[in-house]
Amino acid sequence: MERPVVWQMIKEAIEALNGSASYSEIEDYIIGKWGDVNKGTIEKQIIVVTVNHTSRIHYPENHKPRLSNSNSNYDFLYRTSRGHVVKYDPVKHGIWEVFLNDAGKPAMRKYNEAVSYLFAWNPADFAWAELGRQVEELRESGKLVIRWRCQSHKKVKIGDRAFLVRLGTEPKGIMASGYVTSNSFKARHWKKDKLTDYVLLDLDILLNPDTDPILKIEDLNSGDYPKKIWTPDASGNPIKPELIHDLEEKWFMFTDGANISTAPSGSNDPCRNYTEGQSSEIILTRFERNPYARGACLEHYGYACSVCEFDFKEYYGEIGQNFIHVHHLTQISTAEKPYEVDPVKDLRPVCPNCHAMLHKRKIPYNIAELKSMIKIKKPAYSVTLDNQE
Ligand SMILES: [Zn+2]
Ligand SMILES: [Zn+2]
Repeated sequence: MERPVVWQMIKEAIEALNGSASYSEIEDYIIGKWGDVNKGTIEKQIIVVTVNHTSRIHYPENHKPRLSNSNSNYDFLYRTSRGHVVKYDPVKHGIWEVFLNDAGKPAMRKYNEAVSYLFAWNPADFAWAELGRQVEELRESGKLVIRWRCQSHKKVKIGDRAFLVRLGTEPKGIMASGYVTSNSFKARHWKKDKLTDYVLLDLDILLNPDTDPILKIEDLNSGDYPKKIWTPDASGNPIKPELIHDLEEKWFMFTDGANISTAPSGSNDPCRNYTEGQSSEIILTRFERNPYARGACLEHYGYACSVCEFDFKEYYGEIGQNFIHVHHLTQISTAEKPYEVDPVKDLRPVCPNCHAMLHKRKIPYNIAELKSMIKIKKPAYSVTLDNQE
C-alpha cells in the first residue's frame, strides 16, 4: 500500500476515532498503522489542519487568505481544548478565516457574518416624543438615523441587521428595521444619571404604532422557544439565526405594498444615489438591501453582474462569494396605489461599477442600454481593477 502524506493520515485517523481525539490518540493510530512516522511531524500537521489553532498561520499551507469552508485540504479539524481536536463542522464551529493583517502578515480570526439584532422600545420606559416627526422624516427624505440602546455592545458591528420591537403596551410587535451603522459608544442614559451603550441605526422602515399597523408578536414564528423570545428584557441582543429567515420573509410581506415611500415624494427613481460630487457611494434603497427581496432575486439570477457578467467569486475566490449589488429597475409610478416589488421582475444583480454607471443619469439607464455602451468586451475585469486607484 502506498503511504499517504501526513495530513491524509490524520484525516483517516480522526474518522477512525469517531471524530474526536487527543493528539496522542491520533499519533498512536498513525504509528500503529504506518509504523515509523515522526510524532513532531504529526503534531505540526494537526496544527496546520485545525481551523481555529492560532499557530497554524506559521506554516506555508496557511499563508494565503482563505475561508475554512472553501474545500481546502487543510481545514478539517477544530480545537476544543489543549491537545484535543474534533472533526470540523462549519455549521457548529463557524467559519474561520486566514487573512493578511495590516502588516501584510497572515493571521486568523473567526469570520464575521452579519448578525441580526433585536432592539426594544417600551413606551413606559422611554417617551419617544420625536417618533411622529421621524416617521415623516424617513417618508420624505428616505433616510433616518437614530441612536438606540444596545446590550451586546461588544459584539455588535457595522453592517449588522436591526429590528425594533415595541413592548409593554399594545400593540406589541416589530415596528422598524434597518442596519447598524456605527460601532457602539457610550452616552448619557435617557433617564438615569449614568452612561449607557448605544449604536446608530440607519432605518429603512419605521412605523408609528399609534397610527400604522405593525407586525404583531403573535404572528411571528418562535420555533421551539417560548414566545417571550420576541419580548426581551434588554435591547440589542442577537436574534436566533434559525428564526431570521422567517422574520425577514414575514416583515417583507407585511411591509411590501404598505404605504411606505422609499424616496422623496414625486420622484420616480427609487434609488437614491450619491455617485456625483462628494462621495462615490451608492446608497441602496430598502428593496435593494432587503435580505428577503435580495435572496429571491439572486436565487433566480445568480450572482454574476447582469450588465458585464463579472462574477466576484470566480475572480476573487472565496471572499467574493455572495458579493453583488442588487439594482431596482426604475418603476414609473402610474397609480396612487402602494408600490409592490416583485424581486424577480423588478430587481437584477449588478456589480458596483455597473451599478454606479446605471445611476449616471437621474432616471437610471436600463440594463440593455448600458450593455450597448460597453466598449471593451469582457476585460470588464481590468476596468474594475483600474478603478481602484
Ligand atoms: Zn458589471
Ligand atoms: Zn440601483
